[in-house]
Amino acid sequence: MNASFPARDLGNTRVIALSDGYLEVGFNMLSNVDEKECEKIQRDAEISELNAVHINTFLVRRNGRNILIDSGAGGVKGWGGRLVANLGKLNIQPENIDAVLLTHAHPDHIGGLLNSEGEAVFNRAELIISSDEFNYLESDENFAAVSDRIKGNFLLARSIFKKYQKKIRLIESGEVFPGIFAIPLKGHTPGHTGYRIEGDQSSLLIWGDIVHFPHIQLSRPEVAIAFDYDPQMAAETRSGVLEAVSSDKVLVGGMHFGEQAFGYIEKRESGYGIVHKE
Ligand SMILES: [Zn+2]
Ligand SMILES: [Zn+2]
Repeated sequence: MNASFPARDLGNTRVIALSDGYLEVGFNMLSNVDEKECEKIQRDAEISELNAVHINTFLVRRNGRNILIDSGAGGVKGWGGRLVANLGKLNIQPENIDAVLLTHAHPDHIGGLLNSEGEAVFNRAELIISSDEFNYLESDENFAAVSDRIKGNFLLARSIFKKYQKKIRLIESGEVFPGIFAIPLKGHTPGHTGYRIEGDQSSLLIWGDIVHFPHIQLSRPEVAIAFDYDPQMAAETRSGVLEAVSSDKVLVGGMHFGEQAFGYIEKRESGYGIVHKE
């Protein structure tokens, strides 16, 4: 089968971006920016569906192992749902996935772990998640304190943890597989985690939800989104990562980075921009 997805090679590791589809987010969910300015930034970037947020997952292939980073939304709330079909275009079945690394447990990143019958999709896979994220979501005290919308997110995450309970590995930071390092990037959620994949000469940072609207939040890193657990910490984390990846010229991949999935971050006169190049 012929399938072409954005991909990068880092030594003996191939990282392939697989789309799960889209979700819609209104600009009224963003703070520290007005909606007219959001529209202008999106139009200037030649984006036709102004409120569409694209969902990426990343498949890391090394030494015959298939490691997925996030699972997309899997159709939850009508979002995404294309991941398994896209894996199939690479002749990869769900049972060929050895591990799923999670950046965090929002529905658009974990929904794809269960099928419509509520059973595990990746039935052989180890599920790897930050201990802070897991413990936050398993706490009844936290559950009691959140809104009904967020209660729904807790319940989805808990049902997934249950189906994968025999194969959950909790992590904090450091090497999780040879050449794959967990980097805590907290703020968007309590345990939001990026993964750095080391090649022989270069590395790639998969940074999860550092941005939802890349053009808006790169030019204005202070722009927060209503899904941020701690908007101020999320903005500080975003600014710190942007500074680091732009000065070190690190290749970046993001879950909401658009269909091109990979890019370099460049410092501009005000804020930052993306450069998509091989
Ligand atoms: Zn998120
Ligand atoms: Zn997300």
